[in-house]
Amino acid sequence: FSAGPTHVRLGSAARPVIVGGDALTVIAGPCSVEGEAMLLETAHAVRAAGAVALRGGAFKPRTSPYAFQGLGREALVMLAEARARTGLPVVTEVMDPRLVELVAEHADVLQIGARNMQNFALLSEVGRVQRPVLLKRGPSATIAELLMAAEYVMAQGNRDVILCERGIKGWDPATRNTFDVAAVPVLKAETHLPVLVDPSHAAGRADLVPALSCAALAAGADGLIIEVHPSPAEARSDGPQSLDLPAFDALMARLRPFAAAA
Ligand code: PEP
Ligand code: MN
Repeated sequence: FSAGPTHVRLGSAARPVIVGGDALTVIAGPCSVEGEAMLLETAHAVRAAGAVALRGGAFKPRTSPYAFQGLGREALVMLAEARARTGLPVVTEVMDPRLVELVAEHADVLQIGARNMQNFALLSEVGRVQRPVLLKRGPSATIAELLMAAEYVMAQGNRDVILCERGIKGWDPATRNTFDVAAVPVLKAETHLPVLVDPSHAAGRADLVPALSCAALAAGADGLIIEVHPSPAEARSDGPQSLDLPAFDALMARLRPFAAAA
């Protein structure tokens, strides 16, 4: 039980980022960390535009085993370097319970990907480390199942869980997933945990990301996690849904009224 909303603190005690408080939290960065130069370029640009944390995949949960799987440990080192250069806390996915400690040594936030939302061994493992967890809703998971997945993390002692709606399986290929906008007010009513929305994976199309971002914030989300790439056409994963740097900057300007209202 909690008397009010849970505030999850990311990053250093000296310059913390609070998720679930008064300020909107925008996390941005590439789907995959593809190299040091592109990561640093993106990190500096998203920080300048107003993002408060950097995302970047090191271990990628690709549908095909023949697709780019991420740069792994090398990418973790690049993320830590990007944090050192920009001061932005970094968010990255961990897929393997055996790698939780390693990822926690490099990252500020452990992302549990949608496909692993009910990987109970992984949930318990991230529950045992002192790092906030960004828990994404499974592509076919109910809200009740998402909340029980969060319980698996918290049951081990880690109370710093951030929920993320990223779209659920639908039948219409016009979008990659169906953004369940109602999940936001349902989650806000049923839990004290912060709620973020990932409009990039919901839409699967960069042109829809601004509208879904506005919808998420209008529905009461505490913030957004958005894919941004300096050259989306050349991205090694999720290029079609990634904003380029000017588009992200323009989106942040468009979101300013929501920040003022929060
Ligand atoms: C991602 O954030 O790049 C990702 C793979 O997200 P999801 O687990 O929501 O598909
Ligand atoms: Mn992605």
